[in-house]
Amino acid sequence: MKDQFGREIDYLRISVTDLCNLRCRYCMPMEGIPKREHREILSIEEIEEIGIAAANCGIKKIRVTGGEPLVRRGIIEICARLSKIPGVRELCLTTNGALLSKFAQELRGAGVSRLNISLDTLNAERYREITRVGQLEDVLRGIDAAEAAGFSGIKINTVLIGGGNDGEIQDIAALAEKKDRHVRFLELMPTGECASWDRERFVDCSEVLRVLPGLVLEGIDGVEQRYRMPGWRGSIGLIRPVSAHFCPACNRIRVTSLGMLKPCLHSAEEIPLRGLHGKELEQAIREGIQGKPRRHHLEAGKSGSLREMNEIGG
Ligand code: SAM
Ligand code: SF4
Repeated sequence: MKDQFGREIDYLRISVTDLCNLRCRYCMPMEGIPKREHREILSIEEIEEIGIAAANCGIKKIRVTGGEPLVRRGIIEICARLSKIPGVRELCLTTNGALLSKFAQELRGAGVSRLNISLDTLNAERYREITRVGQLEDVLRGIDAAEAAGFSGIKINTVLIGGGNDGEIQDIAALAEKKDRHVRFLELMPTGECASWDRERFVDCSEVLRVLPGLVLEGIDGVEQRYRMPGWRGSIGLIRPVSAHFCPACNRIRVTSLGMLKPCLHSAEEIPLRGLHGKELEQAIREGIQGKPRRHHLEAGKSGSLREMNEIGG
Protein backbone atom coordinates (compact mmCIF):
# COMPACT_ATOMS: atom_id res chain seq x y z
CA MET A 1 0.00 0.00 0.00
CA LYS A 2 1.10 3.56 -0.66
CA ASP A 3 1.78 6.16 2.02
CA GLN A 4 0.61 9.79 1.84
CA PHE A 5 3.69 10.72 -0.25
CA GLY A 6 3.08 7.99 -2.82
CA ARG A 7 5.81 5.63 -1.57
CA GLU A 8 4.94 1.94 -1.90
CA ILE A 9 5.43 0.43 1.58
CA ASP A 10 5.93 -3.32 1.24
CA TYR A 11 8.69 -4.13 3.73
CA LEU A 12 8.35 -4.86 7.46
CA ARG A 13 11.27 -5.21 9.85
CA ILE A 14 10.33 -6.92 13.06
CA SER A 15 12.57 -7.10 16.12
CA VAL A 16 12.11 -10.38 18.00
CA THR A 17 14.27 -9.51 21.02
CA ASP A 18 16.26 -6.53 22.28
CA LEU A 19 18.84 -8.79 23.91
CA CYS A 20 22.17 -9.51 22.27
CA ASN A 21 25.19 -11.75 22.78
CA LEU A 22 27.54 -8.94 21.62
CA ARG A 23 28.11 -5.41 22.91
CA CYS A 24 29.03 -3.37 19.85
CA ARG A 25 30.22 -0.05 21.18
CA TYR A 26 28.02 2.04 18.90
CA CYS A 27 24.89 0.06 19.77
CA MET A 28 24.89 -1.37 23.31
CA PRO A 29 26.26 -0.37 26.70
CA MET A 30 28.83 -2.76 28.21
CA GLU A 31 26.39 -3.95 30.84
CA GLY A 32 23.81 -4.80 28.17
CA ILE A 33 20.23 -3.80 28.68
CA PRO A 34 17.94 -4.76 31.55
CA LYS A 35 16.31 -8.12 30.84
CA ARG A 36 12.59 -7.76 30.42
CA GLU A 37 9.93 -10.11 31.68
CA HIS A 38 9.17 -12.76 29.09
CA ARG A 39 5.57 -11.52 28.81
CA GLU A 40 6.73 -8.01 27.85
CA ILE A 41 8.27 -9.27 24.61
CA LEU A 42 6.02 -10.16 21.67
CA SER A 43 5.10 -13.85 21.75
CA ILE A 44 5.54 -16.13 18.77
CA GLU A 45 1.77 -15.98 18.19
CA GLU A 46 1.74 -12.16 18.34
CA ILE A 47 4.63 -11.95 15.88
CA GLU A 48 2.78 -14.24 13.48
CA GLU A 49 -0.44 -12.26 13.89
CA ILE A 50 1.36 -8.99 13.11
CA GLY A 51 2.97 -10.65 10.08
CA ILE A 52 -0.43 -11.79 8.77
CA ALA A 53 -2.04 -8.38 9.32
CA ALA A 54 0.94 -6.65 7.67
CA ALA A 55 0.71 -8.97 4.65
CA ASN A 56 -2.97 -8.02 4.38
CA CYS A 57 -1.82 -4.39 4.22
CA GLY A 58 0.50 -5.13 1.28
CA ILE A 59 3.73 -6.13 3.03
CA LYS A 60 5.64 -8.57 0.79
CA LYS A 61 8.98 -8.78 2.53
CA ILE A 62 9.64 -9.35 6.24
CA ARG A 63 12.99 -9.07 7.96
CA VAL A 64 13.56 -10.64 11.37
CA THR A 65 16.03 -8.62 13.42
CA GLY A 66 16.88 -7.67 17.00
CA GLY A 67 18.92 -7.31 19.29
CA GLU A 68 20.33 -10.58 18.08
CA PRO A 69 17.51 -12.71 16.65
CA LEU A 70 19.45 -15.95 17.11
CA VAL A 71 19.37 -15.57 20.92
CA ARG A 72 15.56 -15.46 20.88
CA ARG A 73 14.04 -18.71 22.11
CA GLY A 74 11.83 -20.18 19.39
CA ILE A 75 13.56 -18.30 16.56
CA ILE A 76 13.24 -21.23 14.17
CA GLU A 77 9.52 -21.51 14.80
CA ILE A 78 9.09 -17.74 14.38
CA CYS A 79 10.80 -17.94 10.98
CA ALA A 80 8.84 -21.03 9.96
CA ARG A 81 5.54 -19.30 10.76
CA LEU A 82 6.42 -16.01 9.06
CA SER A 83 7.70 -17.71 5.91
CA LYS A 84 4.36 -19.49 5.46
CA ILE A 85 2.23 -16.34 5.52
CA PRO A 86 0.43 -15.94 2.18
CA GLY A 87 1.67 -12.83 0.39
CA VAL A 88 5.10 -12.83 2.07
CA ARG A 89 7.50 -13.46 -0.80
CA GLU A 90 10.73 -12.99 1.07
CA LEU A 91 11.70 -13.72 4.66
CA CYS A 92 15.10 -12.29 5.58
CA LEU A 93 17.08 -12.28 8.81
CA THR A 94 19.80 -9.94 10.06
CA THR A 95 22.33 -11.44 12.43
CA ASN A 96 25.74 -10.73 13.90
CA GLY A 97 26.65 -14.25 12.77
CA ALA A 98 28.13 -15.39 16.08
CA LEU A 99 25.66 -18.28 16.43
CA LEU A 100 25.08 -18.82 12.74
CA SER A 101 27.13 -21.99 12.34
CA LYS A 102 24.71 -23.60 14.79
CA PHE A 103 21.50 -22.30 13.18
CA ALA A 104 22.21 -21.92 9.43
CA GLN A 105 20.75 -25.24 8.34
CA GLU A 106 17.60 -24.90 10.47
CA LEU A 107 17.00 -21.33 9.28
CA ARG A 108 17.15 -22.55 5.71
CA GLY A 109 14.68 -25.31 6.56
CA ALA A 110 12.37 -22.76 8.22
CA GLY A 111 12.03 -20.86 4.95
CA VAL A 112 14.45 -17.97 5.50
CA SER A 113 15.32 -16.82 1.98
CA ARG A 114 18.13 -14.35 2.66
CA LEU A 115 20.67 -13.53 5.34
CA ASN A 116 22.35 -10.24 6.25
CA ILE A 117 25.42 -10.71 8.41
CA SER A 118 26.99 -7.80 10.26
CA LEU A 119 30.77 -7.77 10.15
CA ASP A 120 32.67 -4.55 10.78
CA THR A 121 36.25 -5.83 10.58
CA LEU A 122 38.41 -8.74 9.46
CA ASN A 123 40.93 -8.10 12.20
CA ALA A 124 40.37 -10.39 15.20
CA GLU A 125 41.66 -7.88 17.75
CA ARG A 126 39.59 -5.05 16.31
CA TYR A 127 36.55 -7.30 16.21
CA ARG A 128 36.94 -7.89 19.92
CA GLU A 129 37.49 -4.15 20.48
CA ILE A 130 34.31 -3.16 18.58
CA THR A 131 32.04 -5.93 19.89
CA ARG A 132 33.73 -6.07 23.33
CA VAL A 133 32.99 -9.80 23.72
CA GLY A 134 32.84 -11.34 20.22
CA GLN A 135 35.19 -13.67 18.34
CA LEU A 136 35.78 -12.95 14.66
CA GLU A 137 36.31 -16.68 14.02
CA ASP A 138 32.68 -17.43 14.99
CA VAL A 139 31.30 -15.07 12.34
CA LEU A 140 33.62 -16.34 9.63
CA ARG A 141 32.54 -19.89 10.46
CA GLY A 142 28.92 -18.72 10.44
CA ILE A 143 29.28 -17.26 6.92
CA ASP A 144 30.79 -20.53 5.67
CA ALA A 145 28.03 -22.55 7.35
CA ALA A 146 25.33 -20.37 5.80
CA GLU A 147 26.80 -20.76 2.32
CA ALA A 148 27.14 -24.50 2.86
CA ALA A 149 23.47 -24.59 3.93
CA GLY A 150 22.48 -23.12 0.57
CA PHE A 151 22.16 -19.39 1.32
CA SER A 152 23.45 -17.52 -1.72
CA GLY A 153 23.89 -13.80 -2.23
CA ILE A 154 24.60 -13.25 1.47
CA LYS A 155 24.75 -9.59 2.40
CA ILE A 156 27.61 -8.54 4.64
CA ASN A 157 26.93 -5.26 6.43
CA THR A 158 29.85 -3.13 7.57
CA VAL A 159 29.29 0.04 9.55
CA LEU A 160 32.12 2.50 8.82
CA ILE A 161 33.84 3.77 11.95
CA GLY A 162 36.38 6.59 11.62
CA GLY A 163 39.69 5.68 13.26
CA GLY A 164 38.38 2.10 13.52
CA ASN A 165 37.73 0.06 10.40
CA ASP A 166 38.00 2.79 7.76
CA GLY A 167 41.44 1.50 6.78
CA GLU A 168 39.96 -1.91 5.94
CA ILE A 169 37.53 -0.92 3.19
CA GLN A 170 39.53 -2.68 0.48
CA ASP A 171 39.93 -5.94 2.42
CA ILE A 172 36.28 -6.08 3.48
CA ALA A 173 35.06 -5.27 -0.04
CA ALA A 174 37.21 -8.15 -1.34
CA LEU A 175 34.87 -10.60 0.42
CA ALA A 176 32.72 -10.07 -2.70
CA GLU A 177 35.55 -10.62 -5.18
CA LYS A 178 35.37 -14.37 -5.71
CA LYS A 179 32.00 -15.26 -4.20
CA ASP A 180 28.40 -14.30 -4.83
CA ARG A 181 28.26 -12.00 -1.80
CA HIS A 182 27.05 -8.47 -1.47
CA VAL A 183 29.20 -6.30 0.79
CA ARG A 184 27.42 -3.18 1.99
CA PHE A 185 29.03 -0.24 3.72
CA LEU A 186 26.75 1.75 6.03
CA GLU A 187 27.23 5.17 7.53
CA LEU A 188 27.19 5.17 11.29
CA MET A 189 24.10 7.02 12.50
CA PRO A 190 24.38 9.32 15.54
CA THR A 191 21.81 7.58 17.70
CA GLY A 192 21.82 5.88 21.10
CA GLU A 193 25.28 4.85 22.31
CA CYS A 194 27.18 6.76 19.63
CA ALA A 195 25.03 9.91 19.58
CA SER A 196 27.74 11.85 21.41
CA TRP A 197 30.78 10.39 19.59
CA ASP A 198 33.24 12.78 17.92
CA ARG A 199 32.36 13.83 14.39
CA GLU A 200 35.53 12.17 13.03
CA ARG A 201 34.08 8.76 13.81
CA PHE A 202 31.24 9.27 11.33
CA VAL A 203 32.66 8.42 7.92
CA ASP A 204 30.91 9.45 4.71
CA CYS A 205 30.38 6.50 2.34
CA SER A 206 32.10 8.46 -0.42
CA GLU A 207 35.29 7.23 1.28
CA VAL A 208 34.52 3.79 -0.22
CA LEU A 209 34.43 5.32 -3.71
CA ARG A 210 37.73 7.09 -3.04
CA VAL A 211 39.41 3.83 -1.93
CA LEU A 212 37.82 1.77 -4.75
CA PRO A 213 37.69 4.15 -7.73
CA GLY A 214 36.95 1.25 -10.12
CA LEU A 215 33.43 0.75 -8.73
CA VAL A 216 30.70 1.19 -11.32
CA LEU A 217 27.24 2.33 -10.26
CA GLU A 218 24.65 -0.27 -11.27
CA GLY A 219 21.53 1.27 -9.83
CA ILE A 220 19.52 2.21 -6.77
CA ASP A 221 17.88 -0.56 -4.77
CA GLY A 222 15.59 0.95 -2.13
CA VAL A 223 17.82 2.85 0.30
CA GLU A 224 21.00 1.43 -1.23
CA GLN A 225 23.31 2.49 -4.05
CA ARG A 226 24.50 -0.68 -5.74
CA TYR A 227 27.94 -0.91 -7.39
CA ARG A 228 29.90 -3.54 -9.25
CA MET A 229 33.65 -3.96 -9.57
CA PRO A 230 34.42 -5.21 -13.07
CA GLY A 231 35.49 -8.87 -12.87
CA TRP A 232 34.17 -9.48 -9.36
CA ARG A 233 31.51 -12.11 -8.72
CA GLY A 234 29.68 -10.27 -5.95
CA SER A 235 28.71 -6.62 -5.60
CA ILE A 236 29.18 -3.63 -3.31
CA GLY A 237 26.48 -1.45 -1.77
CA LEU A 238 26.50 1.92 -0.06
CA ILE A 239 23.84 2.92 2.46
CA ARG A 240 24.09 6.61 3.22
CA PRO A 241 21.48 7.67 5.77
CA VAL A 242 23.58 10.68 6.80
CA SER A 243 25.34 11.98 3.68
CA ALA A 244 22.58 11.26 1.15
CA HIS A 245 18.96 11.80 1.82
CA PHE A 246 17.35 8.45 1.00
CA CYS A 247 13.89 8.96 2.51
CA PRO A 248 12.16 9.34 -0.89
CA ALA A 249 13.05 5.66 -1.54
CA CYS A 250 11.99 4.43 1.92
CA ASN A 251 9.68 1.41 1.61
CA ARG A 252 9.59 0.12 5.19
CA ILE A 253 7.93 0.13 8.57
CA ARG A 254 9.30 -1.38 11.77
CA VAL A 255 7.90 -3.18 14.80
CA THR A 256 9.90 -3.28 18.04
CA SER A 257 10.14 -6.35 20.25
CA LEU A 258 7.63 -4.68 22.60
CA GLY A 259 5.08 -4.43 19.81
CA MET A 260 5.40 -0.74 18.93
CA LEU A 261 5.00 0.12 15.26
CA LYS A 262 7.55 2.73 14.14
CA PRO A 263 6.64 4.41 10.85
CA CYS A 264 10.15 5.98 10.69
CA LEU A 265 13.43 4.78 12.23
CA HIS A 266 14.38 8.28 13.35
CA SER A 267 11.06 9.58 14.58
CA ALA A 268 9.67 9.34 18.12
CA GLU A 269 6.25 8.43 16.78
CA GLU A 270 5.04 4.95 17.71
CA ILE A 271 1.76 3.06 17.49
CA PRO A 272 1.13 0.30 20.06
CA LEU A 273 0.00 -2.92 18.35
CA ARG A 274 -0.35 -5.14 21.38
CA GLY A 275 -3.84 -6.22 22.25
CA LEU A 276 -5.07 -5.50 18.74
CA HIS A 277 -6.33 -8.32 16.55
CA GLY A 278 -7.75 -8.91 13.09
CA LYS A 279 -9.18 -5.81 11.40
CA GLU A 280 -8.20 -3.53 14.31
CA LEU A 281 -4.59 -4.63 13.99
CA GLU A 282 -4.68 -4.11 10.23
CA GLN A 283 -6.18 -0.65 10.71
CA ALA A 284 -3.37 0.34 13.10
CA ILE A 285 -0.76 -0.83 10.58
CA ARG A 286 -2.50 1.10 7.79
CA GLU A 287 -2.44 4.22 9.98
CA GLY A 288 1.28 3.69 10.56
CA ILE A 289 1.95 3.41 6.84
CA GLN A 290 -0.23 6.43 6.08
CA GLY A 291 1.47 8.47 8.78
CA LYS A 292 5.07 7.88 7.66
CA PRO A 293 6.84 11.24 7.79
CA ARG A 294 8.26 12.59 4.54
CA ARG A 295 11.83 12.47 5.83
CA HIS A 296 14.12 12.25 8.85
CA HIS A 297 16.43 15.03 10.00
CA LEU A 298 19.55 13.05 10.86
CA GLU A 299 21.78 15.57 9.14
CA ALA A 300 20.92 17.90 12.02
CA GLY A 301 23.22 15.56 13.99
CA LYS A 302 20.80 13.51 16.04
CA SER A 303 18.05 10.94 15.64
CA GLY A 304 14.57 11.90 16.85
CA SER A 305 13.88 8.32 17.96
CA LEU A 306 13.51 7.63 21.66
CA ARG A 307 14.79 4.08 21.24
CA GLU A 308 18.17 2.43 20.85
CA MET A 309 19.11 0.54 17.67
CA ASN A 310 19.09 -2.76 19.54
CA GLU A 311 15.42 -2.15 20.38
CA ILE A 312 14.45 -1.26 16.84
CA GLY A 313 16.67 -3.64 14.90
CA GLY A 314 18.48 -1.20 12.63
N1 SAM B 1 22.30 -8.02 16.06
C1 SAM B 1 22.05 -8.07 14.67
C2 SAM B 1 23.22 -7.54 13.88
O1 SAM B 1 24.12 -6.93 14.47
O2 SAM B 1 23.23 -7.76 12.68
C3 SAM B 1 20.78 -7.36 14.25
C4 SAM B 1 20.45 -6.05 14.90
S1 SAM B 1 21.59 -4.73 14.61
C5 SAM B 1 20.84 -3.40 15.51
C6 SAM B 1 21.26 -4.36 12.91
C7 SAM B 1 22.29 -3.51 12.21
O3 SAM B 1 22.25 -2.21 12.75
C8 SAM B 1 23.72 -4.00 12.33
O4 SAM B 1 24.29 -4.16 11.04
C9 SAM B 1 24.42 -2.88 13.07
O5 SAM B 1 25.74 -2.74 12.67
C10 SAM B 1 23.56 -1.70 12.69
N2 SAM B 1 23.67 -0.57 13.61
C11 SAM B 1 23.54 -0.54 14.95
N3 SAM B 1 23.72 0.72 15.44
C12 SAM B 1 23.96 1.51 14.34
C13 SAM B 1 24.21 2.89 14.16
N4 SAM B 1 24.26 3.75 15.17
N5 SAM B 1 24.41 3.34 12.90
C14 SAM B 1 24.36 2.51 11.84
N6 SAM B 1 24.11 1.19 11.95
C15 SAM B 1 23.92 0.69 13.18
FE1 SF4 C 1 24.12 -6.66 19.11
FE2 SF4 C 1 23.71 -6.12 16.55
FE3 SF4 C 1 23.76 -4.14 18.39
FE4 SF4 C 1 26.03 -5.41 17.79
S1 SF4 C 1 24.79 -4.17 16.39
S2 SF4 C 1 25.26 -4.95 19.88
S3 SF4 C 1 25.35 -7.43 17.39
S4 SF4 C 1 22.27 -5.74 18.26
